[in-house]
Amino acid sequence: MTNEQYHNLIIGSGEAGKYLAWNLAKMGQTTAVVERSMIGGSCPNVACLPSKNIIHSAKAVALADPTTGLGVMTGSFKVDMSGVARRKSMMVNGLVDLHLANFKASGAELIMGEARFTEPKTVQLMLNGGGSRQLRGDRVFLCVGTRASIPDVPGLTDSGPMTHVDALNLERLPEHLVILGGGYVGLEFAQAMRRFGSRVTIVQRGRQLLDREDPEVSQALLELMKDDGVQVLLQAEVLSVAGRSGDNVTLKIRSGTSESLVEASDILVAAGRTPNTDRLDIARGGVELDSRGYIRVNEKLQTSATDVWAMGDCAGSPQFTHAGYDDFRIVLNNLAGGNRSTRGRLIPYCLFTDPELARVGMSESEAKAKNVPYRVAKVPMSSVPRMQTLSQTRGFAKALIGTDNQILGFTVFGAEASELMAVAQTAMLGGMPFTAFRDAIFTHPTAAEGLIVLFTSGFAGAK
Ligand SMILES: Cc1cc2nc3c(=O)[nH]c(=O)nc-3n(C[C@H](O)[C@H](O)[C@H](O)COP(=O)(O)OP(=O)(O)OC[C@H]3O[C@@H](n4cnc5c(N)ncnc54)[C@H](O)[C@@H]3O)c2cc1C
Repeated sequence: MTNEQYHNLIIGSGEAGKYLAWNLAKMGQTTAVVERSMIGGSCPNVACLPSKNIIHSAKAVALADPTTGLGVMTGSFKVDMSGVARRKSMMVNGLVDLHLANFKASGAELIMGEARFTEPKTVQLMLNGGGSRQLRGDRVFLCVGTRASIPDVPGLTDSGPMTHVDALNLERLPEHLVILGGGYVGLEFAQAMRRFGSRVTIVQRGRQLLDREDPEVSQALLELMKDDGVQVLLQAEVLSVAGRSGDNVTLKIRSGTSESLVEASDILVAAGRTPNTDRLDIARGGVELDSRGYIRVNEKLQTSATDVWAMGDCAGSPQFTHAGYDDFRIVLNNLAGGNRSTRGRLIPYCLFTDPELARVGMSESEAKAKNVPYRVAKVPMSSVPRMQTLSQTRGFAKALIGTDNQILGFTVFGAEASELMAVAQTAMLGGMPFTAFRDAIFTHPTAAEGLIVLFTSGFAGAK
């Protein structure tokens, strides 16, 4: 089979892959993007955007509850999961159409099929419509992403557990959903499904939820889950599973020295990610992987093979869409003669529970581990007037301040946390001292006004 030659060959149409394709093709370079299933990658199809769409429907359920005290009385209402799934699917279909329009307008060729290396910079495609093609790129960009890991627990795979992909398509309400994993995917689904009306149990291996957060943050999320009626089992390990998810399952769980059986209707696995590098025959492309199967890259996202780059989840970048987007910018900039790298990036993070948790920069545990000197400013969200108007006084804002008055880290658990965090992040990017917030005039009553509260009164009892 003869090779079809392109300037740029991109495997995977996720965040970094698609933006790179659209930009390079618009410059007049021949660009092929190979995608085996999801046009535009995980984010618009099975991850960020559909999950936040579903979470919004779940919030509507919570707001319609007459016990919220909002003074709005509804008649009796019920959740229609097929309506929830329909709204989500309409959004996803619209996003896919937008992606197709962008591919068309840019001139990048989108080819639906699965790629495997046959030799350096050359892949064979098994086309989804049947047949095959062999493509070669002057430059190759690997953006193949990750998928949900299924832990090696006896009986788990045979039980047919859901991953986020299946859970986002549910048109029925699980009676009792057991979620394996207390990270951000697990927590977002736990609260949403509980609000829709499922009984929910989270099984978390570690000592706390969200194992990378400060213990007080994890504790706050634990209390939120419990108050919402989600059962959380910490330091708990699933030993075996029997039955079929979607019908009836029994999980044998060890917690400390005791073992117990949990009966449920459904299992959702949210226990980490596996890189999609296992079906690429990547060694034939001369590209090295690390011990966990992620593509080894340097700080410019170059792989071990000449003229081959990797970006996004599969390159070991922080597993967020915005990190993948920045990977694309780094590579594009460097192709144009720039000198950008992944070093020292300030990558924020948000958990879209209600209320949200957002963090940028260092956590207190990290500062301690690195022996970085800091002071802490912390206030409860109840001290922010905006939160009183929303009746959402749960949570706190916390900042770590360095010796030069710079903000080293900012964590907020509360309503509108993601937007508030972006304000603090802007200051960190601009190198502004915390006193600039303390002395600023923000509109009353906004969430941003909370930064004045934090930096004026938040040092009481500070270390
Ligand atoms: C439930 C959930 C919620 C999330 N929410 C958020 C959020 O709110 N905010 C956030 O920033 N991040 C969120 N994330 C993480 C985010 O979705 C990922 O970090 C991001 O989508 C990764 O982008 P990527 O381009 O690296 O990979 P992907 O978007 O997964 O793209 C990789 C593409 O490559 C294709 N592919 C793989 N192998 C081949 C092959 N051999 N041939 C052809 N095509 C191939 C795949 O089909 C896929 O489309 C969430 C993740 C999950 C699971």
